[in-house]
Amino acid sequence: MKQVKLLAIFAILILPSYISYKQPFHYYSYKEMEEFLNEMEEEYPEIMKFYSIGKTYGGREIYVVKISDNVSIDENEAEVLFMGAHHGNEKLGYQFLLYFIKSMCENYSKKESVAYLINNAEIFVVPMVNPDGVENNTRKNVEPNNCIGENIFPILKGVNLNRNYDAGWNEWRPWYFLSTTSTPYGDLILYFLDFPPEYRGEKPFSERETKAIKNFVESRNITIAIDFHTGAGKIIFYPFGYTDKKKPKDLEKFISIAENISSINGYDYAEAGEGVIGMAIDWLYEKHGIYALIIELTRNVAPRDAEEVREIIQLNLPVMHYIVNRAIEEKGRI
Ligand SMILES: [Zn+2]
Repeated sequence: MKQVKLLAIFAILILPSYISYKQPFHYYSYKEMEEFLNEMEEEYPEIMKFYSIGKTYGGREIYVVKISDNVSIDENEAEVLFMGAHHGNEKLGYQFLLYFIKSMCENYSKKESVAYLINNAEIFVVPMVNPDGVENNTRKNVEPNNCIGENIFPILKGVNLNRNYDAGWNEWRPWYFLSTTSTPYGDLILYFLDFPPEYRGEKPFSERETKAIKNFVESRNITIAIDFHTGAGKIIFYPFGYTDKKKPKDLEKFISIAENISSINGYDYAEAGEGVIGMAIDWLYEKHGIYALIIELTRNVAPRDAEEVREIIQLNLPVMHYIVNRAIEEKGRI
């Protein structure tokens, strides 16, 4: 009897903390993303379609989603590109983009402002640039580098895809070691020092994923691109990352875009800087003149608190509308 009483007291003391325990946020798996995209396409075939632009080492597809009126026709409209999960463990990026896709499709017939964007732009979204990384919860992709010891230390496998683009790729300097290593063994050292892995790959576009993005971009005429990340805080970055010596010749335009995003979500903005070579945004701008920026959604790589995730998503949805609007405006100026 005494034991029962004790148990009852114990339950009363402990239970409330279980009840108030927050539901952890569920991030989609690659399979769940695929199912979600299929459902969306089935429901909104007039304005949404998706297709593969490449296959990963792990046999997964790199999907691009197109949202536009007359979606199966290539129209002369402003083109925007949104990308997520270059770093596979940064899950909020792709989850946010999937939510964006859903919200655009659902509101096409309900909100005039959304219909305007879909009718006047071709919106491309690559939610998971690195689906193998997403599935393995790794920053890099998971392709073997054929180096000694990679079966003992899995950290030796894979390339940091956002260091593999052809932008200042050869500008590597020893003192930039912490932001970009030139051998996979550097990642082993970073691993023991508790830094994220940064191996840039054997050569620019050595990776299937970056090649897929390159071919896709070069088949289009994109005006603005946003690459979503997490882990560096709530901040917007514009080029260049690989050098502090030169500024983009469109610096004013970049600052204007960053300022406007900041006025919506309250994030800080800055030049990427710090000698980070091989980034997508630098290549997109330097090689193709695309106004390309990074939005770091939050400090936590993959927040688990569902409430926090919802807040970040709600805060940044209007940013997406602004970007598409701005691309339409920019195209109108040509
Ligand atoms: Zn990242």
